[in-house]
Order: sequence, then structure tokens, then C-alpha cells
Amino acid sequence: MAAMMPYNKRMAAALACRRQRGGDMAMDLNARYAEYLMGRKADFVRFVDASPMGAAAERYPRAVVFGRALSKGYLRDLMEGRPPERREFANAESAMGRLSKALAAKLAGEGYESVTGIKPAKTPHKTVARLAGLGFIGKNLLLVTEGYGCAVVLGKVLTAAPFEAGNHTPVEQGCGDCRACVDACPTGALTGRAWEIGVSRDDMLIRSRCTICMRCLVRCVHTVRYMGGV
Ligand code: SF4
Ligand code: SF4
Repeated sequence: MAAMMPYNKRMAAALACRRQRGGDMAMDLNARYAEYLMGRKADFVRFVDASPMGAAAERYPRAVVFGRALSKGYLRDLMEGRPPERREFANAESAMGRLSKALAAKLAGEGYESVTGIKPAKTPHKTVARLAGLGFIGKNLLLVTEGYGCAVVLGKVLTAAPFEAGNHTPVEQGCGDCRACVDACPTGALTGRAWEIGVSRDDMLIRSRCTICMRCLVRCVHTVRYMGGV
């Protein structure tokens, strides 16, 4: 997989340091918004050319995709069948949703038409994240990243703001013969079909069987690697 991110915590700290020293007041749009997001607990940010998204891109030629990683302690609780003390996934989903709305409003306040959510432009967050080179879509239908496995919660905004979009290469599908998530599913909800363009959600998941237990997230071999093994 490609390197995880151009904007991460180390870079956010460097930007804040530069600002404190009074240097580079005219930070470019990308850096300014990356700092905004990472100051609100996003762990990574990418700016994406939205043109492969079809009609939506005519109005919103750029996308900003960002996310937060789930903690290893939370994942370990799930892995070992302990009820987690905190509702970390739900809380992160709410936080990234709120941050998406706040980002869209901030951009709109600067005169850049922006939209958040999935339905308005029919672009799931993970589709944009894949375009951004953040990961591939696994047999568990989740985004699989290099740094955090499936343990990420995403947010995104489509926008007319002239962000400089990186030249990202979508990550190649990486499941291969692996079936760890499929075999870990207690209800047989995952069909084992690998994702590719044109494959529907229903080809990969029997929705009526999915209990949202998150075992397929935790048991992905890339999530296990992020956790440091089992
Ligand atoms: S969330 Fe649970 S039930 Fe649903 S597909 Fe994943 S492992 Fe299976
Ligand atoms: S566990 Fe294996 S098959 Fe499932 S998403 Fe991860 S890499 Fe793909």
C-alpha cells in the first residue's frame, strides 16, 4: 500500500509551531484546512480530485476526506469479547459527522459551495478514501488502510474550494486469498466475494444476517497488525 497520509499529527504540530513563531502567516488553503481538521481530532486528512466521481464532480471538483483511528484498547476489548467501556465507534462516527458539517459550513463561509453526507452526491466515504489512496475495500466491505487496518471512522466533504489535490493512486485490492474476516463472521453474512468496481453490496453481504458485531473489522489481518498482533 502507499504511504498513509500527507497530513498527519507530526505535520499538524509543525504547522502549529510555525504559526506560533509568526512565520508563514499565509499558509496555503490545504495546510490551513488540514490544521483545522487535525486540531479537531482527525488523525489524517487528504485532498482529492473528485473528477472520477462523475456528475457530482461537475459541481464539486474536490473532496476532503479525513478520519479518526479507533484505539487499540477498544479494539482489544472487542477482540476478546469484553463489552467496551466506551462507545468509541459510535462516538467517533458522531464526531466525524459533526466535523464534516462544520468543515462544509466553514468552506461555505469562505464562499466555496460544499456538501457533506453520502446521499447528496451518492459517494460513500470509503469510495472517496479509496480514490485518495488511503486503502482498498476488503471482503468485509470496509476500507482497509495500511496504518490502521479497518479501524478508522471517516468523514468527508465535497467542495468547490480550489484545494491542491494530490496525485493519488488507488491502492490495489489486497485481500487475495485471505478470508479471515469472512471466517470470523458469526452469522455467515459475508459472502467472501472480493470487491471490484461494479460489485454491489448485496453481492458481498447478506444484510439480513449482519448484526453489526464488528468482528470482521477487528479480525481483519491488517487491523490485527495495527493492534500489534493477538
Ligand atoms: S459486522 Fe458481524 S455480522 Fe456483520 S458482517 Fe461483520 S462479522 Fe458478520
Ligand atoms: S481479513 Fe483478509 S479478506 Fe478480510 S478484509 Fe482483511 S485482508 Fe481482506
